[in-house]
Amino acid sequence: MNIHEYQAKQLLAQYGVAVPAGDVCASAADARTIADKIFATGEKMVVVKSQIHAGGRGKGTFKSGFQGGVKLCRTADDVFAKAEAMLGQVLVTKQTGPEGRLVSKLLVAAAPHIKKELYLAVLLDRASSRPIVMVSTEGGVDIEEVAAHTPEKIVKETIDPAVGMMPYQARKLAAALGLTGDLINPAAKLLLGVYKTWWESDAAMVEINPLCIVTGADGKDTLVAVDAKIGLDDNALYRHKNIQEMRDLAEEAPLEIEASKFNLNYIKLEGNIACLVNGAGLAMATMDIIQYFGGNPANFLDVGGGASREQVTAAFKIILSDPNVKGILVNIFGGIMDCNVIATGIVAAVRETGLSIPLVVRLEGNNVQAGKTTLRESGLTIISGDSMADAAKLVVQAVGK
Ligand code: GDP
Ligand code: MG
Repeated sequence: MNIHEYQAKQLLAQYGVAVPAGDVCASAADARTIADKIFATGEKMVVVKSQIHAGGRGKGTFKSGFQGGVKLCRTADDVFAKAEAMLGQVLVTKQTGPEGRLVSKLLVAAAPHIKKELYLAVLLDRASSRPIVMVSTEGGVDIEEVAAHTPEKIVKETIDPAVGMMPYQARKLAAALGLTGDLINPAAKLLLGVYKTWWESDAAMVEINPLCIVTGADGKDTLVAVDAKIGLDDNALYRHKNIQEMRDLAEEAPLEIEASKFNLNYIKLEGNIACLVNGAGLAMATMDIIQYFGGNPANFLDVGGGASREQVTAAFKIILSDPNVKGILVNIFGGIMDCNVIATGIVAAVRETGLSIPLVVRLEGNNVQAGKTTLRESGLTIISGDSMADAAKLVVQAVGK
């Protein structure tokens, strides 16, 4: 699950990470009220930021033609005008795809003068199976670009998860960021705070781009997280009630929301062969074998180890609501799962949805004979696959290329 920038900043602030003072709102009038309060504290500039689950907002364009989802303002009137131009409009960025995202919330925050933009992220490094903290002096730009063209400008520190991030590691990274003197200690504290946020929230990723050196009213330099992005591990969400409440369904794909209601693990893909499988590993192998025989999977769908008839019917409806789907492959290995429950579910779903595209079913395991009989006796045109390879070949043939 992803959360909005303003929510990510709330979490970070709880761990002592400095973020600009600000608040979220859903109307231009409220944006002005927040701006008035910020200007009253002596700030010279306020930033208005579109809240969507995608980056690249600064350089994005609204479908209305309005340029930029992040705008700096010197007056509360300007904040009002910019908020009016963004709210209710669709913002297209490099990360949203051409359809863009509807902006219904804004973060209005103090905009300190930025001296330098840096990059900071905490993620799980699959190669070392450990958390890593990654920094770069090249902040405010796409980190993928930095990685592609100047990889030496990205510095990584591997963390021992049992020990956590050590202060010396934080100081090492602060030095790699070119920070010196009075900024070293606050930088180390900030790095430790960001790591702690990542660890205690069970996050998959925390990214601060840019992390900024800013000059305060007293002329002293400080470090502030100007942007923040947090992605969380869904499997650990049950441990974080406060984070569960941050879920924004408007930002999620409608089919994936529908799937999560039935405890189905569904991810839409670009191809035209839908698959319905029990078990994530088998689902991945099924997508591979479809591709091996020249087809293209339309989705990943794991119905879990003990799917009910209702779940199977819901799964069929979900895969069929993707207009690209031209054929379906059901691949079930009944370990815990009773093949006949699946078969009954399939028959019910085919009848209920009036299925008109080829359906290939491969059943194996627990109570498979009863399952096959149910399919045969249903009178429906269901193509039976003997093995996984056979079934994949059959569905690719049936769909054609
Ligand atoms: P993104 O485009 O979605 O990554 O949004 P960001 O929050 O990173 O904003 C994009 C850029 O706008 C930043 O890299 C900064 O250059 C600029 N920006 C954002 N917030 C502020 C701010 O508070 N003050 C100043 N001076 N610039 C800002
Ligand atoms: Mg950014």
